[in-house]
Amino acid sequence: MSEYPALHMIIGGEAVSGGGRDTFDVINPATGDVLGALPLATTGDLDRALDNAALGFAAWRHSTPATRAKVLNGAAQRIAQNADEFARIITLEQGKTLGLAKGEVAGCVQLLEFFAGETFRNYGRELVRPVGQRAVVRHEPVGPVAGFAPWNFPFNTAMRKVGAAIAAGCSIILKGSEETPASALGIMRVLKEAGLPDNVAQAVFGVPDEVSRHLLASKVIRKLSFTGSTTVGKHLIKLAADNLIRTTMELGGHGPVLVFDDVDVKRVTAAVTAQKLRNAGQVCIAPTRFIVQESIYEQFRQGMTDIMAKTRVGDGMDPQTQMGPLANARRLEAMDRFVADARERGARVDTGGERIGNQGFFFQPTVLSDVPPDAAVMNEEPFGPLALVNSYADEDAMITEANRLPFGLSAYAWTNDVKRQRRLADRIEAGMVGINVTGTAAADSPFGGVKSSGHGSEDGPEGVRAYMVTKTVTEA
Ligand code: NAD
Repeated sequence: MSEYPALHMIIGGEAVSGGGRDTFDVINPATGDVLGALPLATTGDLDRALDNAALGFAAWRHSTPATRAKVLNGAAQRIAQNADEFARIITLEQGKTLGLAKGEVAGCVQLLEFFAGETFRNYGRELVRPVGQRAVVRHEPVGPVAGFAPWNFPFNTAMRKVGAAIAAGCSIILKGSEETPASALGIMRVLKEAGLPDNVAQAVFGVPDEVSRHLLASKVIRKLSFTGSTTVGKHLIKLAADNLIRTTMELGGHGPVLVFDDVDVKRVTAAVTAQKLRNAGQVCIAPTRFIVQESIYEQFRQGMTDIMAKTRVGDGMDPQTQMGPLANARRLEAMDRFVADARERGARVDTGGERIGNQGFFFQPTVLSDVPPDAAVMNEEPFGPLALVNSYADEDAMITEANRLPFGLSAYAWTNDVKRQRRLADRIEAGMVGINVTGTAAADSPFGGVKSSGHGSEDGPEGVRAYMVTKTVTEA
């Protein structure tokens, strides 16, 4: 328990806690133990954060690319040096296996290094004008940012917002998830150590709706970046609309995986099953609907069932564990509801379908097959270790199913037919399409969705541009 740090907020560079503030108990999802008591912001705290963000922006917007890059690279170095410590914090408060947590931390190092490089690549352009006249297009930082990050990748989703905002020359008030606050605080610590001025990045926690209403009602905030559910995203867009605050929305998905009969079925089944169980399925780009060509359906279904049934589920700290607990009790309730509903509508439960024990939030890796399209889980994001496996006659039927839902975040396809690969890339409606791969995210690659999965991108040059506005200067 001593590995878990004391909890507080960071406002104007100061650690803020106590003082009669309400608190929230942070739980280790593997044991149910309380890790710490998190102070929740008062409106006075939020107002001080806003004042500091305004001051921070006024100064940081004029910082040089070299200064920004030095801070970002310095933070990256410190994270790399303390990678094990940060990974253990992630596992303690979120539940994923230590190996996955280390991967999350390593990804953040790459992200910060990429953002550091982007500070020098913020090119504008000069327009062609008659002799003696000049017109240039410039990119300027948008202003103070509100960044709301979720609990499933508490380090990475927060870093995407904070790192990109700093690279662009913005200040940011980060509200990490109250369920995983130490990861957000770790980010603040390394940035401070790397020389970031106190009021450029701050961390607050609170009752989410109170915090977001207060921050988005302020004239100080000029940009909102949110990662979370589509329902909350729509609510926040409405709040942001009152002040015409720009938004980046990374919302829910329901990732289709199209598996064609020209692949090595055994190898692909193993790859996509491991992908499914990553972070117990609590990944916005998780594969969820396995859309399998009928001639290989039985082989695929059986193969996935065998692997899932043998998966070792346990505390993410245990090196033997292949899948950790769900992050909170809400996910357990959702899994129970999804499985009961699917069963009632005629789906087969090939393996799993039950909670494991009554300590912590463990759920069995689960294969549901022949799942009718009207089952709740075929329409709502499962966000848990449920694989939905169904058989389809041909490519057209498979693409129709892939595009059936309003979501469009990530999609995957497995086929060795090169012409079909191109058709799929063209026809699948998603922000990210992976063909014969299980991962599409990378520091230099824009990450984001279409349709109800949101708008805008994080990561890549687009991820930094998201914190900038365009100005045209014309001189005669
Ligand atoms: P939720 O919809 O209540 O919350 C989703 C996230 O938004 C959480 O991180 C929460 O802290 C935050 N949030 C909620 N209300 C907010 C508000 N008014 N202002 C600011 N932030 C707010 O549900 P939940 O139980 O935490 O998660 C359930 C669903 O959320 C999942 O099924 C999944 O669809 C989605 N989710 C998506 C991601 C993602 O990476 N896109 C991450 C976490 C959760």
